[in-house]
Amino acid sequence: MLFNTYIKILIKEVLLVICILFILCPYSYSASDNLKKPEYILFITADGFRPDYVEKYNTPHLKSLIKEGVWVEKSTDIFPTLTTPNMTSLVTGAYPRTTHIAANTQFDSIQQKLVGGPRDNKAVTIAEALKAAGWKTAAVNQFMLENRGVDTYISAGYDNSEKITNVVIDILKKDKARFIGVIYGVTDSIGHKNGPNSPEMKKAVLSVDKEIGKLMEYLKKSGLADKTIICISSDHGMSDFNKKQASAEPADILRKAGYKVATAKTDFQPDTQIILLSYGVRILYFMPNVSEKEKQDIRQLLTQIRGAEVLDRKKLDALGCHDNLSGDLIVSPLPGYVMSGAGEPGGYHGTFDEARTIMIFSGTGVKKGATLKEGRNIDIVPTLLYSVGVKVPSTVDGKPLKGIFK
Ligand SMILES: [Zn+2]
Repeated sequence: MLFNTYIKILIKEVLLVICILFILCPYSYSASDNLKKPEYILFITADGFRPDYVEKYNTPHLKSLIKEGVWVEKSTDIFPTLTTPNMTSLVTGAYPRTTHIAANTQFDSIQQKLVGGPRDNKAVTIAEALKAAGWKTAAVNQFMLENRGVDTYISAGYDNSEKITNVVIDILKKDKARFIGVIYGVTDSIGHKNGPNSPEMKKAVLSVDKEIGKLMEYLKKSGLADKTIICISSDHGMSDFNKKQASAEPADILRKAGYKVATAKTDFQPDTQIILLSYGVRILYFMPNVSEKEKQDIRQLLTQIRGAEVLDRKKLDALGCHDNLSGDLIVSPLPGYVMSGAGEPGGYHGTFDEARTIMIFSGTGVKKGATLKEGRNIDIVPTLLYSVGVKVPSTVDGKPLKGIFK
């Protein structure tokens, strides 16, 4: 009898210890531990690369990566679909509300000034997380990683695809970096200049594809291919101006109604009531001298624009936008409309229409020839950290895409 009681107590204690062990188990310690972990991470971003370019322009090297890895069918970025906030979210796995990088230029209400090219990202970068785990890290053109956890940072010329590849190979050879974050920029510049459906864009897409092919060839030749996980991504898509014009320009309507509107740093005066930044969408900030009644009036005026929608604080919060750096309102053209530049040559981004991105995973531990229904750009950092067994920082808003692994 006594012995039975003793056994029962022992079993209880053993179960308790097992429970505690489960609770203490780190997030990164999981199914991926049964598999061979990658020793290298190559995180490539092609600026403004639309996912449909793969088929439209028939990219042989990307197609072969897809065949060898996982294609994410519906991959999306963060709103507004601009470069600086999206490059930040790509390297942190966090929304603008966490990174505090909300636009290419943003109004800082505490300092009461417009900040161009904001870099003060508040989230941990993938390079910082890896470096803390003992990794040697590098970045080429990935400007949101400069001074943010990389041992080596090289600006290789944003549009110079060939040079970018050579620099990456050089870093792999000489610096022995195990993580490299890279941006190929030419697809964005040509997208803006000539548009996504132009012969110039075909050339730009194929040139980036060719360079990615060269990198893959080097990985094979050097024996790194079996030790590397590769992610191909983009920060946003690209639309051409071949759309209908929304019925009015927000700045014109507000000025006509008597409001003092600044659309650039140079316009900003002590009596400015509204700052309105123009990036495919219009990001609107109210100055402290605007009353609640006036805010209602302004919103009412903007909702009258046909072909555009007004996103208020509630909608912006739901999108992960920052609660004041992302603006108080965003006016965004509806699908099929632009707010300015209709019929112009070239392209733009910033709206929901450019939210689709490319996402491919390939290499060590990744399934072969598989597809994943969907993924968000903020899921890339946790996925890559999970694959190498490094703890995911608490600033990450995304989730590891475990479905890509064998
Ligand atoms: Zn971009």
